[in-house]
Amino acid sequence: MVSSQFNSINSDTLDQIFSNAHSEVFKTFNCLNCANCCKNYSPIIEPEEINLLSTALNISAVELFENYVEMDEEGDFVFKSQPCPMLNLEDNKCTIYESRPRACREYPHTNMKAIKNHLELLKKNIEICPAADEIVQRVIKQIEDVEA
Ligand code: SF4
Ligand code: SF4
Repeated sequence: MVSSQFNSINSDTLDQIFSNAHSEVFKTFNCLNCANCCKNYSPIIEPEEINLLSTALNISAVELFENYVEMDEEGDFVFKSQPCPMLNLEDNKCTIYESRPRACREYPHTNMKAIKNHLELLKKNIEICPAADEIVQRVIKQIEDVEA
């Protein structure tokens, strides 16, 4: 399991190993061949990002909520439907790429600080994201090599 592999590692060291693996894997991964996150994961939209989205779509905030965004059970703003309505399903490109929410920019969160405190999120993301899965496999291998 993901969590048991990381228990013995210092948090800062684990962040550094993840950050290196993240950089290496994303050098070669082409997300346009995948888009699993945009098809299966609903990013949280921060309140301050609402205006950015409506500007990008050239619609009012009211129209944004009428057509694309709702509040979920936890009180977070999310897109109403999946695949994400901003995804072009023909080429897997985000139609609001420059204005996409921070949650999209940071996905799959494999280079976040104190990743040891976010292992549940990591477990969820490796189910969806092949790059995150590859990153975790590399991190586990590196730890096993050091401990061998
Ligand atoms: S806003 Fe763009 S990057 Fe974010 S889930 Fe939708 S299509 Fe993907
Ligand atoms: S699921 Fe992972 S590999 Fe696929 S597009 Fe999203 S970030 Fe890229």
